[in-house]
Amino acid sequence: MVETYLNYIANEWKPSRSGATFEDENPAQRGSNLGHFQSSTAQDVDDAIGAAAEAFPRWRRTPLTERQQIVGEFLRLLKEARNELARIVTLENGKTIRESRGEVDSALLEGNYHLQQVSAFYGHTGPGSFREITTWVQYQPLGVVGVISPWNFPMNVMCRKTLPALLTGNTVVFKPASFTPWSGIFMAKLFERAGLPAGVFNCITGLGSSIGNVIVRDPRVRAISFTGSTEVGKIIQARAAANLTRTQLELGGKNALIVMDDANINQAADAAMTAGFACAGQWCTSTSRILVHHAIAPQFISLLTSRCEKMEVSDGLHESTDMGPVAGPQQYHDIRAAIDKAKVDGAELVTGGPTPNEESGYFIRPTVFACVDPHMAVFQEEIFGPVLAVTEFETLDEALTLANNSIYGLSSSIFTRDLGNAKTYIDGIEAGLAHVNIQTGYKEPSLPFGGVKQSGAGLPENSESGLEFFVDRKAVYLKGA
Ligand code: NAD
Repeated sequence: MVETYLNYIANEWKPSRSGATFEDENPAQRGSNLGHFQSSTAQDVDDAIGAAAEAFPRWRRTPLTERQQIVGEFLRLLKEARNELARIVTLENGKTIRESRGEVDSALLEGNYHLQQVSAFYGHTGPGSFREITTWVQYQPLGVVGVISPWNFPMNVMCRKTLPALLTGNTVVFKPASFTPWSGIFMAKLFERAGLPAGVFNCITGLGSSIGNVIVRDPRVRAISFTGSTEVGKIIQARAAANLTRTQLELGGKNALIVMDDANINQAADAAMTAGFACAGQWCTSTSRILVHHAIAPQFISLLTSRCEKMEVSDGLHESTDMGPVAGPQQYHDIRAAIDKAKVDGAELVTGGPTPNEESGYFIRPTVFACVDPHMAVFQEEIFGPVLAVTEFETLDEALTLANNSIYGLSSSIFTRDLGNAKTYIDGIEAGLAHVNIQTGYKEPSLPFGGVKQSGAGLPENSESGLEFFVDRKAVYLKGA
């Protein structure tokens, strides 16, 4: 019996006014259906924004300690639901169950960081230039904010946006990705159980191109925090500009891992395997380009190849699976097309190709291309799948030029034992995240998370900026009468 899931608006579970639903397929089983979800309309968006707008005046006056108490309860429930939620994430996204548990753990780490940090965030006061004047910056919540999230981290990304928004006194309209609505609805249930007042958090499911647009262009929505593709990010930025709606855009990447000739080659290969193939290469911070020093290239490529060929690619629910399916039919089709194009363009397919189980689910083997030229699409375009493009270089300057030869600038990494090389790379790399001897996906909540160039715009998530995005600053000058 396949369950039907409703929208969550003003603490009530409601069907869409369209009366229509869509299905959620498990990518490990073609043709399966995990549930019926509401195909929401502009009217449903209007209801959700109306509820959030109505809830805002009271929520913004709710003492911070009370907001922290509710968010703290939400995090307690999230921890309790870790295994149940991880299973849902694997079922609808495909990533392995270990990765899904890791996603929940990451959301808990970040959520607890914001929960603690928000107290310090409100403490900016100081004496003015004249002794009788006291000045301070007062943070004001914005009002209703829209959260639009992708399918690759269906619960962690929404938490990274929603919790800082709520802690700073905003109300939220959340739209999960249409591939992963179940995780979004599950989060709404946790907010309901945590005791969030009516209208403070609302969740509506449906297509981005229809309801996502409506959220973005509504003048009552004061900010949009979006994670997704660069293509959609540009559309959102342009639409939001009509009302000068603030945007936080976390977008695509084509992240490079540089392997110098003095690198610990085993560690570099471990990093390439982790960040290249976790979540079937569908992290925004996945490694997709490997720039390897000419002198060690053959050894490095053969190390990668033997590791890839040992990987078990199967249903993510099996504990022994190393890599699950890609997220759905469109992803499968696009990744296969990118692999075919790389072959036609002249890149050398070192490992990859068909898997015996591709008829049953959207499985693609870990794929490595060598002899990749920077003009090729496999070097330039975000494939968002388990595909590594290897290009050789002679000098660090050349490696940096190659790494920066991209419209994107999200994450990056270098493997070297030379401190001078590390310093040159840190200064020269055009990316929001720079790692030395660490894989490209590593991050901590106390540091900003966001890209440069076409990988992001607006204040980054996490760190203090993760809270700052959701407030206006009021400069206050106070003098006794
Ligand atoms: P997507 O851009 O297709 O969709 C993201 C979200 O936007 C979904 O909820 C979708 O329904 C919605 N949407 C689609 N069209 C819209 C529109 N016109 N107006 C408003 N909303 C709309 O991205 P995706 O396929 O879900 O995710 C993959 C992409 O996300 C990749 O490019 C990846 O690099 C990127 N990503 C970036 C980060 C980061 O932090 N930089 C993190 C995860 C994913």
